[in-house]
Amino acid sequence: MSHRRILTSLAGLAAAALAVPSFAAAAPTASTPAASSAPTTVSSYTGSPQDEAATKAFYDAVMKSARAKQAKAGNKLAAVTVTYAVDAPSFASQISSSTSIWNSSVSNVHLVEGSNYDFYYTEGNDSRGSYASTDGHGSGYIFLDYAQAEQYDPVRITAHETGHVLGLPDHYSGPCSELMSGGGPGPSCTNPNPDATERAQVNSLWANGFAGFGAKAAFHTSK
Ligand SMILES: [Zn+2]
Repeated sequence: MSHRRILTSLAGLAAAALAVPSFAAAAPTASTPAASSAPTTVSSYTGSPQDEAATKAFYDAVMKSARAKQAKAGNKLAAVTVTYAVDAPSFASQISSSTSIWNSSVSNVHLVEGSNYDFYYTEGNDSRGSYASTDGHGSGYIFLDYAQAEQYDPVRITAHETGHVLGLPDHYSGPCSELMSGGGPGPSCTNPNPDATERAQVNSLWANGFAGFGAKAAFHTSK
């Protein structure tokens, strides 16, 4: 599939983007090289300093791609449609559940699986756990980690990472009732639904974002 090729080309960029020392903000020995003592089980779902910046870049890229297609279609009033592809067969049902949750939770953006996608889901083993990333040119992906999905609820993980696509930042200190608290409340938290505040945030982000869309911007729509 075409996004296999994209994934390969993204690997270096993703590695570079995520190469920031993950415990620099929290570890008391942050001023010294972390190579000797840093844990290897870093997880974006449960929290790492670079997650917010990566999420913002991903959101910006997806927003640009989705809006460019909508502008081309001449439809400036309907909800923005964000199209995704699935290269994560183990998580097909969880992705479907996540899509249903989000589409029934918000009105200003709509997720649909299809070709000419804005982002895609993929899966595998990664010591950082699940995360969202981007190539910075209107394309990105959500990586779903096998081991983490055995420890934490996989629908909550999938819906949480999709929340980043829709523009929500992490809030690990929040309660289980918040989707973007991610792994913060621990593995016993299985809530896959955004709360009222998170729903309102997404609706606001996509409504305001679309209003601020400028036609002069150059977009990369070919994939
Ligand atoms: Zn997150």
